[in-house]
Amino acid sequence: MINKKVACVTGANSQVGSYLIEFLLEKGYKIYGLIRRSSTFNTQRIDHVFNNPNLELMYGDLSDSSSITEFVSKYKPELFFNVGAQSHVAVSFQIPEYSLDVTGIGVMRCLEAIRRYSPETRFLQFSTSELFGGTAYSNDEPLSETSVLHPRSPYGVAKLTGYWSTINYRESYNLFASNMIMFNTESPRRGETFATRKLSRAATRISVGLQNEVVMGNMQAKRNFIHAKDSVRAAYAIITSDSPDEYVVGNYGGSHSIEEVAKLAFQCVGLPYEGFVKFDDKYLRAAEVDDLRPNFDKITSKLGWKPTIPFQDIIQEMVMSDFKLAKQEYLIKNGHEYKRLGDV
Ligand code: GDP
Repeated sequence: MINKKVACVTGANSQVGSYLIEFLLEKGYKIYGLIRRSSTFNTQRIDHVFNNPNLELMYGDLSDSSSITEFVSKYKPELFFNVGAQSHVAVSFQIPEYSLDVTGIGVMRCLEAIRRYSPETRFLQFSTSELFGGTAYSNDEPLSETSVLHPRSPYGVAKLTGYWSTINYRESYNLFASNMIMFNTESPRRGETFATRKLSRAATRISVGLQNEVVMGNMQAKRNFIHAKDSVRAAYAIITSDSPDEYVVGNYGGSHSIEEVAKLAFQCVGLPYEGFVKFDDKYLRAAEVDDLRPNFDKITSKLGWKPTIPFQDIIQEMVMSDFKLAKQEYLIKNGHEYKRLGDV
């Protein structure tokens, strides 16, 4: 028997994991979160809910069957969200085997544990638009659940393994297992080495004089950006729906280039981005994904979910949040508060 109102979350200290935990706590769930051990503190994103009696964290790893098996067999959750992954595309070219192990086979480890010890548990795999990678647009149609899958990185290949494992365990063992194909998910809690956050951080640090420039790779790549809060609502709608399935989850407005993100981020702090954004080919990838645009009609029509936070608002929120951090950093470094010229 599963435990009602109990949820297990891997990657509990990740960007999406942290918003998901907040969301589930609000809904009254008891949550068990799995996090990777690190030699430095790595729970900053969930420190504000750390002492909530309905949240328990434990160390474990998607590369370690025993921790996954124990996690599932001990708690037999109603809901299991597999958020954890080695999630950086560029890094996956440097550690391909590890990425496949954690991000791909890790999904199978979760599914296998559920099959053996808690087959009534509902499972949600956090899939990605990177599955589409190099898929050509036919007649300029945006990417949907029926588009061809063509990953272009070890990360994408690993995610494809996870995606098909989810479908395979559903078809083979009748598990309630679904895939949410998420487009680029952003927020002030986005990791600092992803393009959007790297730019929001740089723009604000440059604006207070803590940094002179930011060095980037391909600024012409285009992505669709969605707020992590909207993604989390979609995840819950999918895992609690009547039947398991695949759903694309993206935002309105098509795709935006990284250059557009840079322009907007610098505009928010009153600076032109030209001159501050430099290029280095070390940030280019062995294979690039040029453009990802979603068609999320299926989730909208079947489950009634819609995105609520537009692209511009997401970037603005990230810049405002990073501006606060830059001012704190300035205070620590200079011993007095940051003031703009002319401030009295
Ligand atoms: P991804 O879409 O999951 O790979 O998310 P990222 O934020 O890592 O990358 C988005 C796009 O930004 C990709 O096409 C990258 O090639 C491009 N990009 C350009 N410069 C950079 C950079 O300095 N860091 C990262 N992470 N991406 C960059």
